[in-house]
Order: sequence, then C-alpha cells, then structure tokens
Amino acid sequence: MTDPIVFAIPIFFATIGLEAWIAKRRGLSLYDVADALTSISIGMLSLIASSFSKILTLGIYIIAFDYLSVFEWSLDSIPAWVLALLLYDFLYYWFHRCSHEIDLLWGAHVVHHSSEYLNFSTALRQSTTSSLFSWAFYLPMAIAGVPPTMFIIVAVINLLYQYVPHTQLIGKLGWVDKVFVTPSNHRVHHGVNDYCIDKNFGGMLVLWDRLFGTFAEERDDEPIVYGASKPLASYNPLWAHLQLYADLWHQSKKTRDFSSKLKIWLARHVAPARTSLRRFNAENHKRYNPHTLRWLRWYNLANFAFLVFVTEYYLANVDGFRLTESIGWSLFLLMSAMSMGAMLENKAWGRWLEQVRLIIMSVTLTFEPFWFGYSLPTSLRLGLIIATLFLAFRLARKEDTLPD
Ligand SMILES: [Zn+2]
Ligand SMILES: [Zn+2]
Repeated sequence: MTDPIVFAIPIFFATIGLEAWIAKRRGLSLYDVADALTSISIGMLSLIASSFSKILTLGIYIIAFDYLSVFEWSLDSIPAWVLALLLYDFLYYWFHRCSHEIDLLWGAHVVHHSSEYLNFSTALRQSTTSSLFSWAFYLPMAIAGVPPTMFIIVAVINLLYQYVPHTQLIGKLGWVDKVFVTPSNHRVHHGVNDYCIDKNFGGMLVLWDRLFGTFAEERDDEPIVYGASKPLASYNPLWAHLQLYADLWHQSKKTRDFSSKLKIWLARHVAPARTSLRRFNAENHKRYNPHTLRWLRWYNLANFAFLVFVTEYYLANVDGFRLTESIGWSLFLLMSAMSMGAMLENKAWGRWLEQVRLIIMSVTLTFEPFWFGYSLPTSLRLGLIIATLFLAFRLARKEDTLPD
C-alpha cells in the first residue's frame, strides 16, 4: 500500500516555498539551503525505510489486534474515531516523552531535533529508527480493539497535524496555545534554552503536558535557540542517526558488567548542557555553517530536485518492485543523500562518493533502456551518459576549494 504521506509531499514543498518566500520578504533568516536539504533528505530516507519496516511494525499491531483484542471498534461510529484520535495522541505523548527521557530512544528521536532552524522543512526531519520503538507504545490500541485501518488513519492524521506547528511565522494564538499543539508551544519544544528542555511533548493536544506537568509557555523576553543540546554539526543523514549511539557505545565500553552497560543505554537522558545552558542564548550561539561552495550548493539543489522525483516515483510504485529492486533504489537514494550531505560540508570524500554515484548512473544508463515506465530513446540516453560522465570528471578537479 502506498504510504498516504506520499500524497502530501507536493503540499509540503508548496508550503516550504511559501514560508521561505514570506520569510525573505520580511527579512527573517528562517531558512538555510543546506539545512533544509538535509531535513528533507532525512525525511525522504525515513519514508523509504518505513516502506520496509512497516511490514514489521504494522504487522505486530495486526497480530496483536487479531489475537489479543477484546472487541472491535466500529468504523462507522464517529465517537469511536474521536476516541481513537484521543487515545493515539495520549500514547504519542508518552512515546514522545520517553523518546526525550530515555537515552536509547533519544538516540533515534534526536534526529528530529538536530536542525538548528525551525521551519516547515524541520517537520520533515523524521527519524528512521524511531519506528523500531514506537510500535510498542501503540499496542494498547490493538488490545483495546482499534482496527488496523482506524489505527493507520488516526496515525496519519496525527502526523500530518504535527507538520503545521513547525513554523516561526505564526505568533501566539491565545487560549488555543493552551489546548492544542501550536507553533508557539512547539517552538518551545524545539528550544535548548533552560526553560524549554523536556517541555511540550503533545502531538495534537498540549493538554496532556498541562495534565502531566510538562507544559511551558513561550516567553517573549528570551529568544528561543533551536536544535539539540549537543549540536549535530553535520549534514550527514546517517551520522544524525548514529551520533548519540556512538557516544553510548564508547561510554558502555568503559564499563565491565552487563547491568552497568544496560544502565547507560536505558539511563534517563540528561541534556549535557543542562547545567550550562546559559551559553545557549541568541547572542553568543553560533549555528553550524561550513560555508558550502556556491556552485556545490546549486549543484546539490538541482540534484535534489531529481532525487525528490526519484523518491516520489519509488514510493508510489514500491508495491510493484521486486525486493532486490527496492533494495537497489533505497541504497542509491541513501548514497545520494550521503554524498549530498558530505558535499554540503565541503568534505573531499563527498565528491569521491558523488563521482562513484555518477559513474554507477552512467553504467546503468548504458545497460538499462527502461526508466520510470518509459523506454528512453538512444540519443537521450547517450546525452545523459555524457552529462553524468562530464559531471564526474568536473568533480575530480581540485580548484574551487575556497568557500564564498
Ligand atoms: Zn521531541
Ligand atoms: Zn517538532
């Protein structure tokens, strides 16, 4: 089944474009091209990964529903739908809270918080590994008898709703900020200021935070600094998923017995800067900025447009692919995102990886005439092969090393 989120992708791009345009007109620096490309490519990789992992995560839900449910909620009942939405949001609150408070889960969720900007593209920066844990939190819904169809639909509604609060263009909304998750209270959630840490975990309702003591209102006297308390300082989508686990691995290697190791992985996550967060203020906080070469920024922007097309094509047709084809496309897209991130960081290995990727593309174009459901004319294929080889050659040149 095609992921329903795929149909929302054009809306995401339209609203990101609109938000960036309005911000530019108002003279606000809400966007950074490299950061936004990283956020969106992380989101694309997470959608691709979920085309594999949902077989497991949704599969467990369906098995739990089939064998453990007490009775089945009616799909025709409006109160049942409302209750399912509320129950999902309540369980999301606890999953999200645990994702911040337990190191093992924070290692997955930190991906969403790794951008130092807050805009609609940040909403797409979704973790690939979070779904390895989230399914367990929603099992009570299966046991309570919420049918899988109802569960999938309320989950999609909840996820789409969460896109909206990721903006700085909408100010405070009065009483609405105290009931629903809104831009104002979600800005607090993404902040690293003292008063923002471990606050406002709600998905649709912020009432849960008010009920369980984790609510904080946005302050007018202190600008919010966005990001994670330990900055990622990278555009590498894989490293965004591994950084904290690498830290935990190093820590646990220093301990001898199993229970001490376990404690490190399951410890209550404490923001490392909790005691010194004062340094995270708008005046002295510097965002990560490796000063990407201008032509590399343009190259990656053009490359990115192609990757979006490929990802959309892959996700819309994933059911028709053989497993080997799915794995091939996924690895190609992962490789593309990796080389893009490394090139945006001006890393030499990014260019090498890109050269390998371009050569793989030209070799595949040589032997495979069928692309995206069409048989490409030989002249077009030849043109594309020459273009990819030319780009690979161009990337090998050593000049253009000065950032502008
Ligand atoms: Zn969070
Ligand atoms: Zn968020």
